[in-house]
Amino acid sequence: MPATKSLFIVIVGCGRLGSYLANRLSRQGHHVVVVDAHPEAFDTLSPDYSGFRVEGDASEFAVLSQANIDQADMVIVATNNENINVMVGQVARKLLNVPRVVVRIEEPDRRATYEQLGLDTVCPASLVGDEILQGMVQYTLTTMERAPER
Ligand code: AMP
Repeated sequence: MPATKSLFIVIVGCGRLGSYLANRLSRQGHHVVVVDAHPEAFDTLSPDYSGFRVEGDASEFAVLSQANIDQADMVIVATNNENINVMVGQVARKLLNVPRVVVRIEEPDRRATYEQLGLDTVCPASLVGDEILQGMVQYTLTTMERAPER
């Protein structure tokens, strides 16, 4: 469904997570720029992706500048390197005053520390864990209650 207001969103890291988000957000009508160190990562973008691609290492400020990160309404930092993600997230949030910055993290225990730095965090392992607990374990309990005794 097209968005009522379109945002300028920079996605750093165009692997499995970044490209999924880029394809969905582009389809919703947002202006998207993806950044990745490896050009083959852009192969995962769908044919109808209408945004831009910037090739380069996100730890280099020139690469972030090329993506116009300072103009972004939102930055999603989704590489597979938590240290890079937090560093880029801090540059976007603190140095460039990007209003909303979401950072992919691997280690849920560090979430509170990062949030004190003004970064929203998403931990894929926790999300998957929550989904299994809330959805699937609950569903199994419900269906077992209905099923006859084994
Ligand atoms: P995935 O784990 O499949 O979501 O992929 C992570 C993506 O992050 C890969 O496409 C990597 O090339 C990309 N990546 C990792 N480090 C950097 C970096 N320093 N700058 C830009 N992209 C990166």
